[in-house]
Formats: sequence, structure tokens, C-alpha cells
Amino acid sequence: MSQPPKSLWWDSLSTPLELRDSVKQDLEVDVAIIGAGFTGLWTAYYLKQNEPNLKIAVLEANVAGFGASGRNGGWCSALFPVGLEKLSKQSNRETAIRMQKTMFETVDEVKKIIDKEKIETEWEKGGSFSIARDEIQLQRALEEARHFKDWGFTDNDFTFYNSTEAKNRINASNILGTTFTPHCAALNPAKLVRQLATVVENMGVKIFENSKVTTFTKNKVLVNNSKIAAGFIVNATEAYRSNFKKYKRASIPVYSLMIATEPLKPEIWDQIGLRNRETFADYRNVIIYGQRTKDNRFAFGGRGAPYHYGSKINQSFDQHKRTHQDLLETLTDIFPVIKGVKVTHTWGGPLAIARDWAAHVTLDQNTKIISAGSYVGDGVGTSNLAGRTISDLILDKNTNLTNLPWVQHQSKKWEIEPFRWIGVNSTLQIAKAADVVEKKFKRETFVTKLLSKLRGH
Ligand SMILES: Cc1cc2nc3c(=O)[nH]c(=O)nc-3n(C[C@H](O)[C@H](O)[C@H](O)COP(=O)(O)OP(=O)(O)OC[C@H]3O[C@@H](n4cnc5c(N)ncnc54)[C@H](O)[C@@H]3O)c2cc1C
Repeated sequence: MSQPPKSLWWDSLSTPLELRDSVKQDLEVDVAIIGAGFTGLWTAYYLKQNEPNLKIAVLEANVAGFGASGRNGGWCSALFPVGLEKLSKQSNRETAIRMQKTMFETVDEVKKIIDKEKIETEWEKGGSFSIARDEIQLQRALEEARHFKDWGFTDNDFTFYNSTEAKNRINASNILGTTFTPHCAALNPAKLVRQLATVVENMGVKIFENSKVTTFTKNKVLVNNSKIAAGFIVNATEAYRSNFKKYKRASIPVYSLMIATEPLKPEIWDQIGLRNRETFADYRNVIIYGQRTKDNRFAFGGRGAPYHYGSKINQSFDQHKRTHQDLLETLTDIFPVIKGVKVTHTWGGPLAIARDWAAHVTLDQNTKIISAGSYVGDGVGTSNLAGRTISDLILDKNTNLTNLPWVQHQSKKWEIEPFRWIGVNSTLQIAKAADVVEKKFKRETFVTKLLSKLRGH
């Protein structure tokens, strides 16, 4: 078993970590869920809510919340990794719009359960900014705002603010404008995932920790030399899915890294803004994301760390000096007023990306094995939708969720190594170089156009 991850969020937990039982004998359950992150726990939550008599075991290799769920950027957003055009090709225009609206509603569903179950998560639904700090980014911001209008959404869902309005809300250097959506909350993810585990436990779900699943096939899961017989098996391991031989190329684990600063003085926040704890990103190619935490720090992250050969995942990869340093430089570039601020935490973790960047919920009717994930870094809200959808699938309910276009979506496999390693890392380097070129020469490259297409919009 690995040590619990080090991060701002884990350090903020007030309850000492007590290891739950591990699997020590054969068991028989209705549903075996592999992985105690948001996907696994939301699945258990909705199943128990709908069918209290179900016997459910959650099998976690480490401790509940060990994965990305306990150490992410804390955006509970309505972002979905597949754009509306692509979704409509998989279904139709109306269904694509319904998918986006369901994502909007999902943010409020998470809040509803948090309130109902009295979970303290430092939640603030202040919305989210994507800022533009040069002409190229401005064009992308305007284009995205237009795009949402074309699909029938209003300013209440997605809007554009000019530089004066933007500065008043988020005083970033060189800001030329920003898009804004109200459909996003900032939260402390470790607090949510750890308390959600307790909630489902109190509902009668058995969570086993230090219980690494070695293999699973129809109705059978092997863990710690014990056998678990299960009617349904839910693979909720997201980035770790590629550790299972059969799913090696189903998705790749991509590292996202984060830093947290010391709490900043009120005078500094007066200059920056983000008064409603709005989350923020921008329109560069290599993704960045940030939030103002409840205790007035910046928690700030981004991609850019290398992909590791053979889809390897290792706790040592959570630290990458160059990337963490870049993150601090980027944050200071955006908000020069924080120059000299102390970084108190650096951490990171893997998230899953499928070959076509599409998230999925799939049920194999023959084996009764269910999989959900590949959220491409937008899994805090999406995993809740996955949990509700999986619950409906297992209970054989035909609902508005089970016919959404990501259900039963199959992505093609990633390439074999070394092509995967070469492809992923060179795309990353090209994206980084494109950001440098755009900043220096104020010119969009062919490659960046291709990259934004890849991202879905
Ligand atoms: C640094 C970072 C920042 C991010 N920021 C955001 C954000 O701001 N907003 C957002 O929406 N998304 C964000 N994401 C993505 C989001 O955190 C994930 O999509 C989401 O948490 C995935 O949840 P999950 O339950 O599917 O997977 P995980 O939380 O990764 O859980 C999988 C669990 O499975 C367990 N496991 C693995 N293998 C086995 C096995 N063999 N047997 C038993 N258990 C096993 C793991 O230990 C783990 O606990 C971020 C991700 C990272 C890494």
C-alpha cells in the first residue's frame, strides 16, 4: 500500500486517518466496486439510496480518496471533455445540448447531496473565468462565447466580459477579456471524498482499504488472495485502469501537478479580486487551472509533466521540480502582485485520457462489468453523473441518464509502446512550444489549431 498523498487538501483534514479493514476472506456481494474515489463512492451512494438492500463492497488498493479525487484542483464544474459538435455526431443536436444541460445540473446535484448529508467541503459556487491575455487568447474566448450562443445557450450559462469588466472581477496582468460561466464551484476535494466514504459506509456499504484487486472477470474479483463473487463489477479506477493488463491501452495516465501558496493578505486579494472564489483558467494550449481557497491561498495547477513510458504510475511522479517551478512562474506572471509568495505544498497525480478524449460509462451486458472514467481532468462533477448513471444501469432502469451519448461509448485503443510514449510526449512538447511562440510572436500556429480541434472545441 502507498502512503496517503501529500497535498494541501490532505493536510487540511481534521480527522486522523484510520485504516479500514482489508479483504481477508472470500465474499459474496451484489456489486463489487473497484476504487474508492468519486466514481466508486458516488456509485455506491446512489445504488444504496435507490436499493437499500443491495450488498455492496468497495475495494480500494490504498485508502479512500487516495487517487485523483482527493488531490485535484477542486473545480466542481460542468466541463465535459467532448465538445458539442462531437457529441451531436455521436447522437444528435438535441441530445448533445441535453448532455451539456445535464452537466450544468450535476454541479447543483453535488451541492444538494453535500447539504443533505452535511458534508463540509468549503464549497463556493462562484462560477469560473477563462481569461484572455493576448490577442490569440482573446479570439479563442470570443469564439467560445459565440459557440455557446450558436448552440442556444444564453449569457446565464456562458458569457464574455470585456477587459474593463474582467479586470474588476479578476485583475490579471494584460487581461483583454474573459469568458465566464456560473456553473462551477470551488471546493476542497479531500474533504468531499473522505466524508463521502463515511456517508456511504453509514448507509451500509462495506469499504475495504489496502485491498488491491489483481484481476477480475465475469462475477469474480481477486484481491489479497481472496475471491469475491459479485453480480456486477464496477471498474472505478480511472487513471489506474491501465494497470490492468486487459485495459492497458484503454486510456493513458497523464500527470497533472499542483502548488499551493501560503494564505495571502486581504490587501493582496483586494487587488486580485476573485471575491466569489471563482475558479480560473486561460486560453493557452497547455492547460492551467486555479482557485482561491477558503483560507485565502492560491491552489494552482497545470499539465506539462511528462507521460511515463508504459503508462507507468508511481508516487515519485507526483513531484516534478521543473513543472512545479513553471507553475509558480505562470501564477506570478498572471498576478504579479504575489511576487515572492511562499509555496507551502507541491503535489500531483494521474488522470485518465482515452485515445479520442472521450469520457464514458459502459456496461458489458454479457459480463456485467461496468467501467466509467477518462474524464480528462474534468471528473469532479462528471463522476457524480457517472455514479447516478451506473446505478440506473445496474438497476435496469431506462432513464434520461442512461441514454446520454457517453453511455456505451467505446474509444479506440492507444498505440503500443514506444509509439504511445513518443506521440504523447511530443504532443506535449509541441503544445508547450506553441505557447512560447504565441506569447512571443503573437501568432497562432497550425499545430495549435489542430490541438484545439483535438480538445473538442
Ligand atoms: C492534479 C489533478 C487536478 C485535477 N483537477 C480537477 C478539477 O479541478 N476538476 C475536475 O473536475 N477534475 C479534476 N481532476 C480530475 C479528477 O480528479 C478525476 O477525474 C476524478 O477524481 C476521478 O475520480 P475516480 O474516482 O474515477 O478516480 P480516482 O479518484 O483516481 O480513484 C481511483 C481509485 O482506484 C484505486 N485503485 C487503483 N487501482 C486499484 C486496484 N487494482 N484495486 C483497488 N483499487 C484500486 C486508487 O487507489 C484510487 O483511489 C484533476 C486530477 C488531478 C490528478
